[in-house]
Amino acid sequence: MIVSNRIKNLHPYVPGEQPKDRVYIKLNANENPYKPSPKVCKAVIDFVQNSPEKLGLYPDPDSNKLHQKIADMLNASGGVLCRAKVDENNNVTPAEIDKIPFTVTSDMIYTGNGSDEVLSFVFYAFFDSGKKFVMPQFTYSFYPVYAGFYNIPMDCIPLLPDWKLDVETMLSHAKQNDGGIIFANPNAPTGISLSRAEVRQMLQKASSEQIFIVDEAYVDFGGESCIPLLKEFKNLLIVRTFSKSLSGAGQRLGYIVANPELINIVTTVKNSVNHFPIDAVAQVCGEAACDDVAYYVETSKKIAWEREKFSEFLTAKGFEVLPSKTNFVFARKNGFSGKEIYEKIKEQGILIRHFATPGIEDFVRISIGDENQMKKLCEAFELILN
Ligand SMILES: *Cc1c(COP(=O)(O)O)cnc(C)c1O
Repeated sequence: MIVSNRIKNLHPYVPGEQPKDRVYIKLNANENPYKPSPKVCKAVIDFVQNSPEKLGLYPDPDSNKLHQKIADMLNASGGVLCRAKVDENNNVTPAEIDKIPFTVTSDMIYTGNGSDEVLSFVFYAFFDSGKKFVMPQFTYSFYPVYAGFYNIPMDCIPLLPDWKLDVETMLSHAKQNDGGIIFANPNAPTGISLSRAEVRQMLQKASSEQIFIVDEAYVDFGGESCIPLLKEFKNLLIVRTFSKSLSGAGQRLGYIVANPELINIVTTVKNSVNHFPIDAVAQVCGEAACDDVAYYVETSKKIAWEREKFSEFLTAKGFEVLPSKTNFVFARKNGFSGKEIYEKIKEQGILIRHFATPGIEDFVRISIGDENQMKKLCEAFELILN
């Protein structure tokens, strides 16, 4: 055979469909319905116009400027955009419960080509082929893909009957396995969040010798960030992304917030694969986005508001809707399969997502769009339920 043996163990991630045959309203990939800030668009145009030669040169290998701006954004917002306050001069301050009791510095930031790439390096750096790592049974479906890719055994812990994480079982298994923990908070696809106090209790009980990874892809829409815990727990590593709350899915920009010791380890992995960082245009986009936090505070607030309205709508229609702190809802209705709802809504020109995975096959996951998209979505639901 011309292929390696390793290839046989690959089970790649299947993303939400990106159809080209018809124009759908896309509520299937948790993308942000709002365009990036006008300042991001202007920064890209200025960059190409004023310094086209930079497209022909290697980018800043350390992304220093971007890392400082990400740190500034986190300090200003407390790491949860939808609760941050904006004054009349567009200055952003964190809500009381989100205040970080120290200053996040640029040496606590690592950036990569989407948090998917970041996660891949994190798996390589901290999980071992000889030890099972612990994750929830239903969580971001890319984690098992990395486990297969790097040949790391997993220990998947079922969720509790109310779809929350089974924290006690995760901890006791982590203790036995000695291989570390990863989960998304808020979790996907359930949308349910652990409070910072709950994660702190977990960290207190977990071994400080094991990595503890929290994926905060959705935290800006109403969860509680664990960034304030970083000084207390040196084994904590937080993965975040520009793809959801910062309208940046097309820019491929993900990042880590952790203590510099862990950042340096991931940098070593990255420099063993590709010693250049994210591309020059993505750096420009990321810097400009961080310069306009106020814009993304507003869009995150709108999305959280639409989510609450839509959850009430579905509940009134007889759906069971899990309590979401994200930019999507996970819901089901007696007498309907997830596939059936997905297909009927698709006939109405709107894409949502369902998973064939046993245990969650009767749910649909619906990304929150803008006001107009949500109005059309509600009309589509009225139609298919009548
Ligand atoms: C969307 C998502 C990511 C990946 O984000 P990218 O930065 O676009 O690669 C990671 N984790 C979770 C839980 C997500 O939902």
